[in-house]
Amino acid sequence: MTTRSGDDRPDVPVADLRSCYEAHADAYDAAALRALRSGWYVLGEEVERFERDFAAFSGSRRCVGVASGTDAVELALRALGVGPGDAVFTVSHTAVATAVGIERAGATPIFVDVRRETMNMDPDLLERAVARLRVEVPQLRPAAVVPVHLYGLPAQMEPILRIAAREDLLVVEDCAQAHGARVGNQPVGTLGAAAAYSFYPTKNLGAFGDAGLVCTQDVSTDGALRALRQYGWEERYVSARRGVNSRLDEIQAALLQVRLTHLEADNARRRSIADAYRDGLAGVDLTLPPVDPEGGLHVYHQFVIRSARRDELRARLADRGIGTAVLYPLPVHRQPAYADSISADWPLGESERAAVEVLALPMGPHLSEDHVTRVINEVRAVAGRRQ
Ligand SMILES: *Cc1c(COP(=O)(O)O)cnc(C)c1O
Repeated sequence: MTTRSGDDRPDVPVADLRSCYEAHADAYDAAALRALRSGWYVLGEEVERFERDFAAFSGSRRCVGVASGTDAVELALRALGVGPGDAVFTVSHTAVATAVGIERAGATPIFVDVRRETMNMDPDLLERAVARLRVEVPQLRPAAVVPVHLYGLPAQMEPILRIAAREDLLVVEDCAQAHGARVGNQPVGTLGAAAAYSFYPTKNLGAFGDAGLVCTQDVSTDGALRALRQYGWEERYVSARRGVNSRLDEIQAALLQVRLTHLEADNARRRSIADAYRDGLAGVDLTLPPVDPEGGLHVYHQFVIRSARRDELRARLADRGIGTAVLYPLPVHRQPAYADSISADWPLGESERAAVEVLALPMGPHLSEDHVTRVINEVRAVAGRRQ
């Protein structure tokens, strides 16, 4: 085996955005040209068509395209009336964007620990966090919960919805990593009051630039979102409320229409890669990710293993040409900018432990069968068998 220098491209990259384009290049070229030649570049027919397509795909009544997933979290909360003085419960083991969106809405994120097995929000701890906040921080109103379907695995929505109903919390699902996932028979994003999607290029449904979208089942929330994303306009030049500029552009919307037609097949490919990893890595000395929840569907935005020797495994895999990623190396409450959060010293031990143990293996439709076999063989070689 040859040892590789640190900076060259891995033989098996953890993700490959160019290959996403190349897989259907003619269709993307045609869609981009159609948008360019139309003479209309922001919030037009392409955006409307994509909003309709995504509503049909995701089982939502209304979809509103916005400029990013972070904006989608912010605007979903704002459209539902969540803002300053409100506490929004979410997880710390997530993309920092979840917390950014909550704070941009003017609300205060309260971090709830994850379950070790799922790495998603622990519903029992949600209940405890709400009770603790009411006692210790009575000036904040418990207003909403933002469960994250991390890595494509649906959060435990049934208990979360039950607690939310009892505690009078709005539910905004963060679906940025879970396009096409299901809780039981129901698509994610249809269970709460609203849901936020990101189409950042690496996501299961990725644009070729920034883009995001909010789903809701409710016509009045839809109207509020359409106003909020464009200066609060309910009619042109009249700001009925304070809004922002978070518009989706026509080129991204045209490209997303194409990508959406391949999402089911791409997700199926991710699931078959996950099955191959599970078979190939059985008995190896690491923790494999949780399987599909009961009746639900995991869409494997990432295939994340855990190991107490994570950094060593990562370095040795890099030497053998296998790209990996650490998502996320620091929980949000340990980020310098968030260290003074109200809940930063509440029990978040599983989130902290996840941050030192998680390792994402290459995942996505860019992987060939040979790539998958290669990943399995190299991981088996470096991790060894379980004692
Ligand atoms: C990517 C992501 C976001 C934010 O999306 P952007 O489009 O980058 O703003 C939010 N939440 C989670 C869980 C994400 O993975």
